[in-house]
Amino acid sequence: MKRILITGGAGFLGSHLCKKLLAEGHEVLCVDNFYTGRRSNIAEFLFEPSFEVLRHDICFPLYVEVDEIYNLACPASPVHYQFDPVQTTKTSVHGAINMLGLAKRIKAKIFQASTSEVYGDPAVHPQTESYWGNVNPVGPRSCYDEGKRCAETLFFDYYRQHKLRIKVARIFNTYGPNMLPDDGRVISNFIVQALKGDDITLFGEGSQTRSFCYVDDLIDGMIRLMNTPDDITGPVNLGNPVENSILEMAGKVIEMTGSSSKIINKPLPEDDPTQRQPDITLARELLKWEPKVKLEDGLTKTIEYFRQLLKDRE
Ligand code: NAD
Ligand code: UDP
Repeated sequence: MKRILITGGAGFLGSHLCKKLLAEGHEVLCVDNFYTGRRSNIAEFLFEPSFEVLRHDICFPLYVEVDEIYNLACPASPVHYQFDPVQTTKTSVHGAINMLGLAKRIKAKIFQASTSEVYGDPAVHPQTESYWGNVNPVGPRSCYDEGKRCAETLFFDYYRQHKLRIKVARIFNTYGPNMLPDDGRVISNFIVQALKGDDITLFGEGSQTRSFCYVDDLIDGMIRLMNTPDDITGPVNLGNPVENSILEMAGKVIEMTGSSSKIINKPLPEDDPTQRQPDITLARELLKWEPKVKLEDGLTKTIEYFRQLLKDRE
């Protein structure tokens, strides 16, 4: 049994990770400032003896004693990370410095939830870990993209300079229960719009692509990476290589919800990447991992989650 700190533990991915690590018998300390996290995401294990939650902003130092740290704190949806871009960069950079400093003091192993956004609008397709990316340093997405890139730099400098045990995962678009209904990300938006009978907001023509991974698969990959031998640092891509256009996603959601919603076109946000697909050769080799959940099965579970959530709110 290990003592494990999860920053951003009340968020979408964090809450699933807390649940899985508790089920494996570990002690979990969830640290969250509840910016996009919700108590309802962690309600089902809030009173378990092995679980503890602390309201704290990782931009400030934290003094705790644990064996492992998963650093997930950071809003992930463009709507939320662009709402207070300075805070987004602070969370990524100051937050990483604080968590790395903590890991150094207590000699803990530390995992970083990095992102496919480090590749920006990629000129290489599919994206391999060796690709350095195509990122606008001064655009509306830069607070997140460059913040996460700087965090990766910090992780590798702590590794080289202080011999820290690091694990860096580049996570591609992931979806599932516990996303916020007003999260702004495409799958949650489309499902909630379809269930309410509202217009489906397609940004641009919908020809841009993404590759969507169901949350259970991703959490499995994260834990596998954390448990690799110390010489494996990453970065490792984690995501589902099945690529879809956003227009296809809109159609699929309408079909699966049986909705009468109409698709309407909205302007494409600035710097919206045109394509994205992970090359997961490295994850297959190092982690013996690949996604198992088919898009239709993951969408069915996610639609059911939002259907229940909207019903409870009536
Ligand atoms: P989320 O917004 O649901 O969760 C982020 C959590 O971090 C929230 O609980 C939020 O309250 C908390 N948080 C934000 N700033 C904080 C701060 N300064 N101090 C403490 N807590 C703070 O997002 P998510 O989808 O669960 O993403 C989790 C991590 O994974 C993020 O770091 C994100 O960049 C990364 N990631 C996610 C995806 C994805 O598709 N979900 C893709 C790539 C990377
Ligand atoms: N998108 C869309 N309608 C929405 C929300 C998003 O067409 O209501 C598009 C968005 O422009 C992008 C894709 O869906 O091309 C994925 O957006 P998301 O915010 O989920 O993730 P990211 O752009 O960060 O990959």
